[in-house]
Amino acid sequence: MKAILPQHLSLTQFPVQNDCLQIGGVALERLVERVGGTPFYAYDRKKITERVAQLRQYLPNDIYLHYAMKANPMPAVVQHLASLVDGIDVASIGEIRTALDTVMAPDRISFAGPGKKELELVSAIAAGIVINMESEQEMECIARIGKKLGLCPKVAVRVNPDFELKSSGMKMSGGAKQFGVDAERVPEMLTRIGELGLNFMGFHIFSGSQNLKASAIQEAHEKTLQLSMHLANDAPMPVRLLNIGGGFGVPYFPGDTRLDLEAIGKNLYNLLPEVKQKLPEAKIVIELGRYLVAEAGVYVCRVLERKISRGKVFLVTDGGLHHHLAASGNFGQVIRKNYPVLVGNKVEGKEREVVSVVGPLCTPLDLLADQMEMAKAEAGDLIAVLQSGAYGLTASPTSFLSHPVPIEVLV
Ligand SMILES: *Cc1c(COP(=O)(O)O)cnc(C)c1O
Repeated sequence: MKAILPQHLSLTQFPVQNDCLQIGGVALERLVERVGGTPFYAYDRKKITERVAQLRQYLPNDIYLHYAMKANPMPAVVQHLASLVDGIDVASIGEIRTALDTVMAPDRISFAGPGKKELELVSAIAAGIVINMESEQEMECIARIGKKLGLCPKVAVRVNPDFELKSSGMKMSGGAKQFGVDAERVPEMLTRIGELGLNFMGFHIFSGSQNLKASAIQEAHEKTLQLSMHLANDAPMPVRLLNIGGGFGVPYFPGDTRLDLEAIGKNLYNLLPEVKQKLPEAKIVIELGRYLVAEAGVYVCRVLERKISRGKVFLVTDGGLHHHLAASGNFGQVIRKNYPVLVGNKVEGKEREVVSVVGPLCTPLDLLADQMEMAKAEAGDLIAVLQSGAYGLTASPTSFLSHPVPIEVLV
């Protein structure tokens, strides 16, 4: 057995045996039979476990790890992660239900996101979930519901900081944003939280996603902790929860390098003593979605037809953009780049060629690989899209063209 080296992603860890990809210790061809056909997503349980262990190894012991489940809300994945991490971050009533079905204690579940509906707030308060408040209006609504239910809602303030996370794939803070409460308005809100008698837990400061630069994350951690200690001066109760966000990225494209976890961990070791001294009751939380699951997932589809048009080879498959929008390049990418794609049952192959892998949709956007080198494939061969465990199926327009929805398995 040797580790596969897809040309531009020398870091993909799935083993290969007899030129066939192994997921969760099962050869891909056999897995297809077990699942009952293609297309499907498979997530490798052990890879998720190892990823959490790796984070624990490099981050200080007193950092709490949360899973932001929108990255992959498959119930089996969430169940598995619930036994490994310290909390779950949810963003809707659906995610609340999935999280509450796990072993996770409700006060370790936090609920973020703008536009929370009354029924979602009622559910969160009744369950005892911590609500990361995104606005003053939401705060007033929470207080009203708490009174009606005779409960004291646990709340944290999501802060829109006055800085940005540099080099982030998706900026979610700094300047004018729909997320959180502008830092300068937080002191007034803290006073009001005291008046309303809400159970103030602390702050949530999330500043971005898909960041591969340790230095940028280190800077964000430092600024986030400084801002939290500053805002805590106006808090009605001691800060018990400090969610400093995540934003840890994974490599997808040629030239991407792995995040330097060790550097991030060391920086936190240096920053924590001051925080512990000033906010001795605060649990410091890092919330990660993509980083926990992205590399454990593979999307698998089958070649239906090998088609040649004016000298170019197209592999027409039973998978596509409707299942995996991100791999098609239409989920937040500015310039389309190929995900790591290979022929799963012929990883090296005898012959290799440059092909485009397309789906069955009637749009040229339905492209899983554009002019990419891989083993020469025929109808019946299996295409595997790696790095597909996060923002895959549930971030895709599955209803578009009314094909059946693919299956997901945790192996
Ligand atoms: C989406 C989101 C995350 C997860 O981001 P990743 O880039 O997947 O790690 C974490 N926290 C909040 C508040 C989010 O909205």
